[in-house]
Amino acid sequence: MNRNTIKVALIGNPNVGKTSVFNELTGLNQQVGNYPGITVEKKVGFAKLSEYTKATILDLPGTYSLNASSMDESVVIELLMNKNDKDFPDVAVVVSEVENLKRNLLLFTQIKDLEIPTILVINMADRMIPKGISLDIPFLEKELKTKIALVSSRKKIGIDNLKQLIINYKELSTEPCLNASSIDPEYFNSLRRAFPNQLLYKLWLVITQDVNFANLHRKKIEENSFAKPKADLKRLQQKETIKRYQFINDTLKVGYKVDKTTATDFRERLDRVLTHKIFGYVIFFGILMLIFQSIFDWSSIPMDFIDETFAVLSSYAKTHLPAGILTDLISEGIIPGLGGIIIFIPQIAFLFLFISVLEESGYMSRVVFLMDKIMRKFGLSGKSVVPLISGTACAIPAIMAARNIENWKERLITILVTPFTTCSARLPVYAILISLIIPDKRVFGLFNMQGLTLMTLYLLGFGMAIFSAYILNKILKIKSHSYFVVEMPGYKIPMFKNVAINVVEKTKSFVFGAGKIILALSVILWFLGSHGPDKTFHDAENIIETQLQNKTISGEKDDLVASYKLENSYIGIIGKSIEPVIRPLGYDWKIGIAVVSSFAAREVFVGTLATIYSVGSHSDEETTIKNRMAAEVHPITGKKIFNVATGVSLLLFYAFAMQCISTLAITKKETNSWKWPMIQLVFMSGFAYTVSLIAYQLLK
Ligand code: GDP
Repeated sequence: MNRNTIKVALIGNPNVGKTSVFNELTGLNQQVGNYPGITVEKKVGFAKLSEYTKATILDLPGTYSLNASSMDESVVIELLMNKNDKDFPDVAVVVSEVENLKRNLLLFTQIKDLEIPTILVINMADRMIPKGISLDIPFLEKELKTKIALVSSRKKIGIDNLKQLIINYKELSTEPCLNASSIDPEYFNSLRRAFPNQLLYKLWLVITQDVNFANLHRKKIEENSFAKPKADLKRLQQKETIKRYQFINDTLKVGYKVDKTTATDFRERLDRVLTHKIFGYVIFFGILMLIFQSIFDWSSIPMDFIDETFAVLSSYAKTHLPAGILTDLISEGIIPGLGGIIIFIPQIAFLFLFISVLEESGYMSRVVFLMDKIMRKFGLSGKSVVPLISGTACAIPAIMAARNIENWKERLITILVTPFTTCSARLPVYAILISLIIPDKRVFGLFNMQGLTLMTLYLLGFGMAIFSAYILNKILKIKSHSYFVVEMPGYKIPMFKNVAINVVEKTKSFVFGAGKIILALSVILWFLGSHGPDKTFHDAENIIETQLQNKTISGEKDDLVASYKLENSYIGIIGKSIEPVIRPLGYDWKIGIAVVSSFAAREVFVGTLATIYSVGSHSDEETTIKNRMAAEVHPITGKKIFNVATGVSLLLFYAFAMQCISTLAITKKETNSWKWPMIQLVFMSGFAYTVSLIAYQLLK
C-alpha cells in the first residue's frame, strides 16, 4: 500500500446512514467479502480524497456499543483492539445521525477511549430544519475532543469537508472525552499497576467480554488476585454506561437544541396504521403479494429471453465449432451452465430492489416489529418472513435475502429451512404428476381437486419450513443474543444510489460466489449425463439403427438414440443402480434416472422423463409426455407405473427433498462452509425419502 493511502474505518449504530456515507465516499469502488472464518460481511471501498491522497474505507458492521452481543459487534471490537491487524485504521470515522445523537454518542465515547484518532460525522443534517434542531458545533467539538463533519449523504452536503478532515487526520486529538475509570478508581488502579504497558480501556474491554487482543488474553487477567466475579463486572459495566450517558446529556444540553413546535406527528400517525394489530398485517401481506407477483411477472420476461439466448448460443456453438468433446463441453456443459447462473439474475435483482426500498424507507423496521413476536416462537426473526415468502419464487434470492437478519442463529435457521417452501421449479413437476393421478373433479361442486392438491403441497412446504425451524432452534447450540430494538428509524424516501448499489452488489456476489459452484456442478452433471463407460453408449446410433431395421423397436430414431444414450450414460447407470433403494418408494429405474438428473434443477425431471419415455411411443395419442407417462406399465405386473401411490410418493419426495445444486451452492456461499449445505442435503432428502416411503407403502 502506498504511503499516501489512509486506512479509514467507518463505525456507527445501525440505521444512521453509514452505508450512504460509505457509498458517497467510494461510489462503486467497493469490494464485498467475508471476515475470515465467519459469515459477517466485510465491505471495503476505495476513495480518492485529493489528488495525492487515497483512502481505503472499511465499512464495519453496525453496532450499538463496544459491549459485544453479536458476531457483528465482536468484529468491530476485535479490529479496534488489535493494532497489528492489517485493517487497523489510521482514523476512525464514527457516523451518527442528527435525530438520535444522544444514543449514537455512546459508541463514540467508547471509541475515543481506545485513543484512536476519531472524526464524528453527524449525518442527516437535512433533517435539522424540519425537526427544529440546532447544533453548537464548536462547543461539541471542544467537549467531545474531536472534529465534526456535519453531513447529509442524501443531499450530498459535507462530504468534501469529511474528506478534508480525513486527509488531516494527524491533527486529531486522541484524548478520551471522559474518564471512565472513575467508576471504580481502586480497581482500575490495580489494573494499571498489573499491566502498565496496556491501555486501560482495552484491559477493561478484555475483562468484560469474550475478546482477546494482541498479546493479552483474558486468562492472564482473570488469574490475578484482583479478578472480580461476573456479576460485579456487569454492575460496573452498567455504571460505565450511566456515566457515559451523564456526560453525553451534559454536553448535549448546551450543544443540541430542539424547537419542539416544528416537530410533526406524521410519523406517529403512520406508525399507528403500519403496526396496527389488524391493518398492519393486511398492509404487510398486501405489499408482499404485490412484490412477489411483480417478481414472477417482471422477471419472466428477461428470464425467457436469457433462456432462449443461451439455447441459441449453445446450438450456434454446436454447429460452428469443430465436432468433438471440447465443443460438446462448451455447447452442452459450459453454455447451459452459465445460462443456469444468469437466469437467476432478474429474480435476485427484483427481489433486492424491493427489499432495499422497504429497508431504506424505514418500513422494514415496522415489519420486524409486527412479525417478530410470531416468528420468534419458531426460532426465526420478523425479517425471516421475506426469505420464506420469496422462496415461493426461488430459494436462491430468498436465501440471499436472509442477509438482512442480523442475528446469526436466526439467519442460519432461515437459510436452512427456506428451501422447503414451494419454489417455482417444483411447479412443472407437481403439475404433471397431479394431472396424472388426481381426477379433474370438484369437491362439494366447488373446489377443484387438482387445485386443492396443489395448495396442500404449498402448505405442506411452508408448514415443514416452520416446523424444522422450531426443531433447529431447539437443537442448534449457537450462542447469540437477540435483542429487540424498539426504537424505529424515521420514514424516508429511499435513496436511488443506495438501492442501486445494493442491487448491483447482491447480483455480483451471487454470480461470482455461488455461480462458480453452480457452473462446476452443472458441468459435472452434464458429463455424467452425456458420457457412458461402455461401448454400448458410443455405439448408440448403430445399435438403434439395427434394432429399427430388425423391427424390434419402433419410433423416431433421434428420440430413441437420445433415450438409449441417457439409459447407458453414467447418470443412467446411477439411476439404475439406485433402483433397489427407490423401489420401496414405488419408483422404477426410469424414475430413478429422472430423480438423479433433476438434481441440476427440479424441472429437469419432466424433460428427462420425456426423453426416456420416447421409447415405445407407438401411436399418435401417446405423443405428449403426460400420455406417455400414463401409458407406462410395469413389465412384469402390467400395472400402471404412475398410479396414485407412486404419484403421491413422488409429489412428497419433490416437496421435501433438496433437489437443487444451485440452492446448495448459495447455502455454501452464505454460510461460508460446506457443513450447512451438507446437513440440508442429508436432512431434507432423508426426510423426503422417509415420508415418500411411508406414503407409498400405505397407499399401494
Ligand atoms: P446504515 O444502516 O447506517 O448503513 O444506514 P443506511 O445508509 O442504510 O441509511 C438508513 C436510512 O437513512 C435510509 O433510509 C437512507 O435513505 C437514510 N439516509 C441516509 N443518509 C441520509 C441523509 O443524509 N438524510 C436523510 N434524510 N436520510 C438519510
